[in-house]
Amino acid sequence: MIDPSVIPDLSDLIAIINSNNADTDIGFINKAYNFAREAHKSQLRLSGEPYIIHPLEVAKTLAGLNLDTTTLAAALLHDVIEDSKITIEAIKKEFNEETANLVDGVTKISSLKKRTKYDEVHNLRKMLLATINDVRVILIKLADKLHNLRTIKYQPYEKQQTISKEVLDIYAPLAHRLGMSQLASEIEDISFNILYPEEYKEIAAKVVQKVPEMEIYINHIKEILHAKFNELNITAQVTGRAKHYYSIFQKMRLQEKPIDDIFDIRAIRIIVNEIKECYGILGIIHSLWSPITSRFKDYIAVPKTNMYQSLHTTVIGPYGHPLEFQIRTKEMHTTAEIGIAAHWLYKENPNIQAKEYKNLMLLKNIRRRLSEKDNPQDFLTELKMDLYADEIFTFTPKGKIIKLAKGATAVDFAYAIHTEVGHHCIGAKVNNHIVPLKTELQSGDIIEIRTGNKEHPSESWLKFVKSSNARYKIRNWIRKSEQETGATISKIQQQKDNKTAEVTIPNSELFKIKDISRQKKQNLTINGTSNVLLKLAQCCQPIPGDEVIGFITRGRGLTVHKKTCQSLKKLEIEEERFINIVWEGSVDTYPVKIEINALDRQNLLKDIADEIASAKTNILKMEADATEDDNVRFKIIVEVKSTSHLNQLIHLLKNIKNVTHVHKLNEKVIIK
Ligand code: MN
Repeated sequence: MIDPSVIPDLSDLIAIINSNNADTDIGFINKAYNFAREAHKSQLRLSGEPYIIHPLEVAKTLAGLNLDTTTLAAALLHDVIEDSKITIEAIKKEFNEETANLVDGVTKISSLKKRTKYDEVHNLRKMLLATINDVRVILIKLADKLHNLRTIKYQPYEKQQTISKEVLDIYAPLAHRLGMSQLASEIEDISFNILYPEEYKEIAAKVVQKVPEMEIYINHIKEILHAKFNELNITAQVTGRAKHYYSIFQKMRLQEKPIDDIFDIRAIRIIVNEIKECYGILGIIHSLWSPITSRFKDYIAVPKTNMYQSLHTTVIGPYGHPLEFQIRTKEMHTTAEIGIAAHWLYKENPNIQAKEYKNLMLLKNIRRRLSEKDNPQDFLTELKMDLYADEIFTFTPKGKIIKLAKGATAVDFAYAIHTEVGHHCIGAKVNNHIVPLKTELQSGDIIEIRTGNKEHPSESWLKFVKSSNARYKIRNWIRKSEQETGATISKIQQQKDNKTAEVTIPNSELFKIKDISRQKKQNLTINGTSNVLLKLAQCCQPIPGDEVIGFITRGRGLTVHKKTCQSLKKLEIEEERFINIVWEGSVDTYPVKIEINALDRQNLLKDIADEIASAKTNILKMEADATEDDNVRFKIIVEVKSTSHLNQLIHLLKNIKNVTHVHKLNEKVIIK
């Protein structure tokens, strides 16, 4: 039995509620607390403490974010279904339907997770958003994760690693999407420390070492600014902005920058009372130091989808240091820290906040949306869909989620289901209505594709399909049917085999690269003169034949990226740091990892191996695993000479009976 004297009471929680949200129904909270305490009475946490401490801490976090009575009650009750014999029906009867729905939602996340295979974990995040219809469920889950991480030291080491990985894969990105940067930072740093202890230590030590130097610099900037602000009679709060460890680590990894370069960027945040002052201060900063115009962002006029608002500008500061400013009002700052939870903050305190914040665009948007809808729940549903602005989630009639790019059409959907469905589609029904094939799909649509045996792809589809997958398959089909009717073999293929691919950007010299091998960095001569340390980017893994571009990394030479590399687009770096490069004819081979999906049959593996051999390719490593419904997936590392060689191989593999999908994986290739 647990000693009742150590069972915590509600006083801490009530204190937080009172200082944040006076409208809360304390009686209801008290009832939920007593119910949960009874349900968990014989349970202990791994720390040896009474279990009730956990739901209580979760509720405290949410109370600190101003969440409403129902959410706090559901937070207290969030583990009772999983851990005791209590049913959702009982909660509904004892409390109300809304509370029961939240508890049910949180419980479902756990069961959804158990059903999800490890490989699909990255989809889980999106699935959560597509299936959970109340964002407060996710807020409770995030607060739950936060407390579990704060007490993670009581878990066995392996479990700590699993939890941390899941947090970095699912929950932290979710928190970022919801704009909850404070919570996201805390859960990221705890998980980062567990998964990458060495890197964590390195960064922590560097922060300690750099802090005094940074402080002197930032104080210098503050003095200049305050003098100017006093002159103009402006009140503003100026702070140096500490980046959290994990974001430093991510920057190092993504931009391939050494740690010193990350600290080179000094960041200052200015918080003011009114929007117009944001723009005033921007003007002052630009009169003091020269702005790097390409880095200016007005997130006040155009807020991010997670509601974030601020002005961002980077200038050349004293001693030539790039200096980054974020300028925002107080409530924009709150939104930047707690994100979506700000919705409850503003909604629940109309009297105190309204006057001061009434000009805020965010508030206007929320109010407009709330007033336009009969059901305030619609606001959350709408918001949920906004979170993935560049992607849509559609459904098959059987309820399977098909993720597509925004703007995708019924044809894209058909190809996402299966190549053959795409090739033979003749019509589509969206939400039970017959629509043209080029109809643009929306999140939540249920799509039924009709196929016909004699139908085949039309060149006109290329005008409206959105996904590269569909485009590629349509082109491929057309090319193949041309070959079959006696047309000549594509000239493009021959050109690729005989010539080097050229990167053409005006005003810049072309450098030639030859003889780079993935396994080793080496010095080589570029343009006859300079010695450059060359490295192939891990993110996009270019191989000879790919259109490439060189990126000068500080102190680390030249990194070769594909021109289409997504991480380059994210970097927003100065153009001077890019160098045009071309491949020279090379006889080397390069290890590439490809994935093959197929419906299992006899001799499938043998046929795959035969095709690989016929493409004069070696297999370096092969893994196979069975997925659901007799599907098999092979991951194979092969040696290829060039992109055209790889494409040729993929083409051969795709023509094997029962093979449904073949593509190159941009994963690190490790051969052992
Ligand atoms: Mn829990």
